[in-house]
Amino acid sequence: MLLADKVVLITGGAGLNGLGFATALQMASHGARVAIMDLEGAKPAEAAKQLGDEHLGVVASVTDKTAVDNAVQQILAKFGRIDILVNNAGITQPRKTVDISAADYDAVLDVSLRGTLLCSQAVIPAMERQGSGSIICISSVSAQRGGGILGGPHYSAAKAGVLGLARAMARELGTAGIRVNCITPGLIGTDIIKGKLTEDRKAEIAETIPLGRLGHPNDIAGACIFLGSELSAYCTGVTLDVNGGMLI
Ligand code: NAD
Repeated sequence: MLLADKVVLITGGAGLNGLGFATALQMASHGARVAIMDLEGAKPAEAAKQLGDEHLGVVASVTDKTAVDNAVQQILAKFGRIDILVNNAGITQPRKTVDISAADYDAVLDVSLRGTLLCSQAVIPAMERQGSGSIICISSVSAQRGGGILGGPHYSAAKAGVLGLARAMARELGTAGIRVNCITPGLIGTDIIKGKLTEDRKAEIAETIPLGRLGHPNDIAGACIFLGSELSAYCTGVTLDVNGGMLI
């Protein structure tokens, strides 16, 4: 039980095929009590119920400071603490540079980058009072390789921004006992790619990956457990690539 007595908040965790829900399931199986924050339409309460009655679903858009603050107060009222935040909510839009509108840019950066900032801001005071905490930010291989297979340049920029924000928070918050680390997933089979790639295209991509396959949501969940638990007690400001070797 690597996460016994830990309370974790996972944003964008309600999609049952997504990285967030896989992480919620795995963390719960390691003893964590889990709060899932997601948009109303994603039904976070129902997702939390699937984990068991002791878990919680809260409705908030990560882009809305008041909603995020209220949701965090709800979680603190129920569990009394927050040990781990997984900044997982994200959206992608396949676009060419010249086609990115101001609205596209705002939408993508708002969820990944502003969302990571707002959710971190909301949990930091509780983590400071506790004298401990682990913030995990889900970036993307798109930030590193300059362009995703599906995300546009604004998605790469948002995810690169997450890397910078996380490192700066790691430097600032280390003496408060708060660690901040990033995961850069490669291509993982979730709803974010559903219907966007043919089976042939997926097989073609898999051939270019040293481990010979696309990622599974559990591959990211495992990395979250490592970064959320004491196994990574001396890691902060780290970017953990979970991409099957895509960048070698
Ligand atoms: P997904 O689309 O299955 O899940 C994203 C979740 O975020 C959904 O539940 C959605 O409702 C939620 N969400 C969207 N906007 C939100 C908002 N404003 N507030 C709260 N929740 C919101 O996608 P996924 O593949 O599970 O992706 C999870 C994270 O991993 C994202 O940040 C994504 O960019 C990143 N990522 C995914 C891949 C991949 O290949 N799947 C690769 C690299 C990075």
